[in-house]
Amino acid sequence: MQMTRSEPHKSRVLVVYTGGTIGSVQDASGGLVPLDFDEIHRHVPELEQPNREVEIISFEPPLDSSNVGTKEWLDLAKAIKHHYQDFDGFVILHGTDTLAYTASALSFMLEGLHKPVIITGSQLPIGLPRTDGRENLLAAVDIATTVRFNEPIVQEVAVYFGSSLFRGNRTHKASAESMQAIISPNLPSLAEAGVDIIYNEGLMYRDATAAFDVNEAMDNRIAWLPLFPGQPLEVIERMTNWPDLRGLVLSTFGSGNAPSNPALKSILSEAHNRGVTIVNVTQCDHGAVHPERYATAHLLRDCGVVPGGDMTTEAALTKLMVCLGRGYDGEEARSFMLRNIRGELTRFSALT
Ligand code: ASP
Repeated sequence: MQMTRSEPHKSRVLVVYTGGTIGSVQDASGGLVPLDFDEIHRHVPELEQPNREVEIISFEPPLDSSNVGTKEWLDLAKAIKHHYQDFDGFVILHGTDTLAYTASALSFMLEGLHKPVIITGSQLPIGLPRTDGRENLLAAVDIATTVRFNEPIVQEVAVYFGSSLFRGNRTHKASAESMQAIISPNLPSLAEAGVDIIYNEGLMYRDATAAFDVNEAMDNRIAWLPLFPGQPLEVIERMTNWPDLRGLVLSTFGSGNAPSNPALKSILSEAHNRGVTIVNVTQCDHGAVHPERYATAHLLRDCGVVPGGDMTTEAALTKLMVCLGRGYDGEEARSFMLRNIRGELTRFSALT
């Protein structure tokens, strides 16, 4: 592992405030409601530094991240595209609840990204004495302005949270309580912030595409189906019988296993034969789908289900939306889902 210390550099950062706890205050009923971004700026005057310019734009109105979906992902992607030439880096302030979905979606939507897009949020509002929002915001801005040999160190969608920088499409919200709420179960952190921010440069993703652009088309005619023991097959059948269904993410047991039930096999085969792209991810917190390992995984393989390797559910769902948005189906969709597009997937020798 090659470790490098960051070198400060004069630069321009665009901060996009989408909403979430980081910029919330308590209303009369004790609930958290988003406030306007000027307030955040007031609480973090250190954003202003002689060696950088920080410009702030905000969603109007700011959104709790439970209300963020494909439209907001597209708004964010377009905002980055619109300002791409004018800024050295981008910071997105986002609620933590669906932050991992937004990070995953943006990673697949932004093509030829050669600048940092750092997403962060916080567990406590920025105005509270014990807030984690100040540190998260200031470190995210530092990372978004860090260059080495005249190039941004980070050239991908990444998430900064609780002292760690993670690849965006590897993240998952693991705690509603901890200040380390966001984790990256299958990939080590890209950087760790202590006294210095120490980057793990060997892990950084570099997009070979020269020109920056946005994959705008997302097809959300997909479903997510976690399996559980004792599950009625009728629910699965009804879901797969939705005539518009184009994609399905199955969350299976362990390394990609499902009940050896011929009725399940015929439901999934029928959907596959109708052109539904089915992707298999593990419902474990860590690890990957290995379709060759157990006989209980062979049923899925025989139905044409695509093994999702060690992709998170968030990555599999959003990658599938981009895949189908490109108009892919059949073998083309299978090969897109199997391919490592943005560092979301670890290569396993026996993954077919
Ligand atoms: N409900 C909030 C949101 O995701 C929680 C947070 O910001 O942490 O928008």
